[in-house]
Amino acid sequence: MSDCVKCAAYVARRTFPMPEDYLAFVDTLIESVKRGDLQMIKADCPLENVLKTPTPEDSLVHEFRCTGCGTRFQLYANTYNGRNWWRRQQWPEMQY
Ligand SMILES: [Zn+2]
Repeated sequence: MSDCVKCAAYVARRTFPMPEDYLAFVDTLIESVKRGDLQMIKADCPLENVLKTPTPEDSLVHEFRCTGCGTRFQLYANTYNGRNWWRRQQWPEMQY
């Protein structure tokens, strides 16, 4: 649970059945980065390039850190098999 106002909208795990859902979410991420609520700490490509088709890689990983509480998040998309998710990162020993 998080009561941090900066990332409260992002703590829930998401998947994106439709590419449009994914791209809409990327749009909100770009806005949050611009506002300074989230900081991008790992990027396989500029976030804006995710919006371009075709995407530059089959598999894209972006990681973010909340500037308010330090919670880390991962955005993953595999454009080859369609798997994707947004999730809050667990502590390393809790990863599976
Ligand atoms: Zn936060």
